[in-house]
Amino acid sequence: MPTVMKKGKLVIISAPSGCGKSTIINEIIKNCDLKLEFSISATTREPRRGEKNGVNYYFMSVDDFKRAIENDELIEYEEVYPGRFYGTPRSEIERIRNMGRNVILDIDVMGGINVKHKFGDEALSIFIQPPSIDTLRQRLESRGTESPEAITQRVEKAGFEIAQSGKFDKIVVNDRLDVAVKETEELIKAFIND
Ligand code: ADP
Ligand code: 5GP
Repeated sequence: MPTVMKKGKLVIISAPSGCGKSTIINEIIKNCDLKLEFSISATTREPRRGEKNGVNYYFMSVDDFKRAIENDELIEYEEVYPGRFYGTPRSEIERIRNMGRNVILDIDVMGGINVKHKFGDEALSIFIQPPSIDTLRQRLESRGTESPEAITQRVEKAGFEIAQSGKFDKIVVNDRLDVAVKETEELIKAFIND
């Protein structure tokens, strides 16, 4: 009898901007045992220096993004900041899962809650928490990718987002990076081997 390949699972990593999602994902994705494949989101924001279309995001115009919504091409989307849309392409999730690999999503807090709700036990949702709001602001400042106004906007939103952490399966505090990476890896390992 032919063996049927098991579909991959979903790992959702959510947090306020600047908490270290990308940094943690870039580390854990190197662990081949976890068979993780990054879900590339669609966004209407401008690429940052060094970001590439089809690698970090699918960068698109607001009109193209709206067309993708109308055509039901996104499994979820949010206007994360005024005028800036982000969404998860259905094709990414299907492509990765059908290869038998696990999908890792870097998405905002509301998006994370929505995806968990849609996929239930097939998804593990992890909330990355900053040690404090002050540390979060410092990290955004030292990343140097956002204007002072955008940093204020992101920090102001963080309070509301942290209040949603109880809706996630697990919480990891990103104080020391190596500890947070290890903890996240262990959670994922237990989930995918379940
Ligand atoms: P996010 O993807 O959640 O927006 P990033 O991964 O870009 O956050 O991290 C924001 C900034 O904080 C980056 O400059 C990153 O190098 C730094 N950073 C991440 N984790 C830590 C940590 N544990 N300690 C110190 N700096 C960190
Ligand atoms: P950034 O502009 O810093 O790359 O991302 C801003 C926020 O948008 C982050 O919290 C990031 O996780 C979130 N984000 C990225 N892709 C998606 C997505 O596909 N859907 C949702 N809901 N949020 C996303």
